[in-house]
Order: sequence, then structure tokens, then C-alpha cells
Amino acid sequence: MDFQLAPEIEDIRLRIHDFVEQHILPLELDPTAHDEHENIAEEPLRDLRAMAKAEGLWALQMPKQRGGGGLNIVAMAACYEEMNRSIFGPVCFNSAAPDDGNMIVLEKVARDDQKERWLQPIIDGEMRSAFAMTEPAPGAGSDPSLMLTRAEKKGDRWIIHGCKTFITGAAVAQHFILIARTSDDTRKGLTAFLFDRDQPGWHIERRIPIMGPEEHGGHCELIFDGLEIPDEN
Ligand SMILES: Cc1cc2nc3c(=O)[nH]c(=O)nc-3n(C[C@H](O)[C@H](O)[C@H](O)COP(=O)(O)OP(=O)(O)OC[C@H]3O[C@@H](n4cnc5c(N)ncnc54)[C@H](O)[C@@H]3O)c2cc1C
Repeated sequence: MDFQLAPEIEDIRLRIHDFVEQHILPLELDPTAHDEHENIAEEPLRDLRAMAKAEGLWALQMPKQRGGGGLNIVAMAACYEEMNRSIFGPVCFNSAAPDDGNMIVLEKVARDDQKERWLQPIIDGEMRSAFAMTEPAPGAGSDPSLMLTRAEKKGDRWIIHGCKTFITGAAVAQHFILIARTSDDTRKGLTAFLFDRDQPGWHIERRIPIMGPEEHGGHCELIFDGLEIPDEN
């Protein structure tokens, strides 16, 4: 088995290495470049994201026709490793959780019109996203089949009631993927929905403190008390 990276992937890996070395690692040592949660502050982040875009190192996991780099998962493994030499690294290249996983899921399963509305702004770096699955005990965690958050169908809308916890990035996310129970079917009872933070019927109950640097938007507890999601989402 050949474990060598193709020359063009090795080139990207080395460019990420140099970018992290020259532009990102120095900011870890500069407290004036940090936000109040010890993450990279928005202003230097904006500059570095623009620089990564200009150098063709942006959203490498996304298809080229959507403005990404079109890399497969093997190539991305090498790139993630280089980006993660700094805790500030992945977000500068638009490859940080939760946007990274959310983009990959939407790219794989969303309809074209959904990709245009919900995915493209995340790829472009205009919006951040969050994935809301975990619930406080005794709800879903390692075992999503314990899901307590319910979505009830009313006409062409779904009404959401429940609570989610540890939702990374929720305080800054505009687009959310929400997992809720739509039936008691043990295999097909859960459904993923898309909603926008400006919709009424939900709120952030609290931001859960953690040790060390915190993701932008923190790790939040969310309450859903009648959020209405159109069936098409
Ligand atoms: C920093 C951070 C960020 C997070 N971000 C998100 C996010 O963005 N979105 C989101 O939805 N969730 C998020 N989570 C939640 C995370 O997905 C859950 O913590 C994880 O799925 C585990 O669920 P739980 O905490 O309820 O633990 P539990 O499922 O209650 O597990 C507790 C313990 O029991 C063990 N255990 C569980 N089931 C079994 C079993 N069947 N057999 C043996 N052992 C078992 C587990 O290994 C663990 O040690 C985040 C968590 C953290 C800490």
C-alpha cells in the first residue's frame, strides 16, 4: 500500500504548514489577539480567513464548484493535522467544528435548493452553524435513540419542544441542524431539521463554561418551546 500523498496534496499540506507557522502560531502567544474566551478574536480571524481564501487554502473539504478545494478525506486528514498545530488553526481555513461537519453533511444529503440557502453561506464564511443533537440526561447523548425533543406535525409545519445541551457555537450560529423525534419507530424515528437563529420559539438558556479556550459561540443549552419549522426544511 502506498502511503505517499499525491504531489499536489503534499504541496497544499506544506502551504498550510507554513501559513500556520508564520501567521497563526504567533497569535497564540499574543493575548491582544484573543477574545474573552481565549479563542482568536474576530478581527485577526477575519484577516486570516481573507488571507487563507486568497491563497486557495479555504474550505478545502468542499467541492470546487462551491468555492472549496475539492479534497477527499485522505487529503483532508493530512491538512487537518497541519491546521491543528494551532488551536486557532482550523477556523482560519473554514475547517473547524462544527461548521466543518455541518458542511460535509449538508453537501452529502441536502437538496440543491437547501444547499444554496443553508450551506453556501457557511462555505463562503458569511455565517456560522451549529448541530443540535445532545440532550440533558435522561435524553440523547452517546445513544441518540433516547431522544426526548419532539417534532409534531401541524399542517405543513413541524412544532418543536425540548432541550439540547453542549451545542457548540450556538451563540454565534445563524444556521442550525436540529435532530428531533418525529415518531416512536426505533429505526426511523429521528429527523434532521434546518432552522435559522432568527426564527422565534427557541432561546439559549445558558452558555456552559469549560476549561481552556472555548469555541466561538461557546457550548450552549437551548430550549425549544414551539419553534415552527416548515416541512421543506
Ligand atoms: C466540548 C463539547 C462539545 C460538544 N458539542 C456538541 C455539539 O455541537 N452538538 C451536540 O449535539 N453535542 C455536542 N456535545 C455533546 C456530545 O456529543 C456528548 O457529550 C456525547 O455524545 C456523549 O453524550 P453524554 O454527554 O450524554 O454522555 P452519555 O451518553 O450519558 O455517556 C456517559 C458515559 O457513559 C458511557 N456510555 C454511554 N452509553 C454506553 C453504553 N451503551 N455502553 C457503555 N458505556 C456507555 C459513555 O462512554 C460515557 O463515558 C459536545 C460535548 C462536549 C464535551
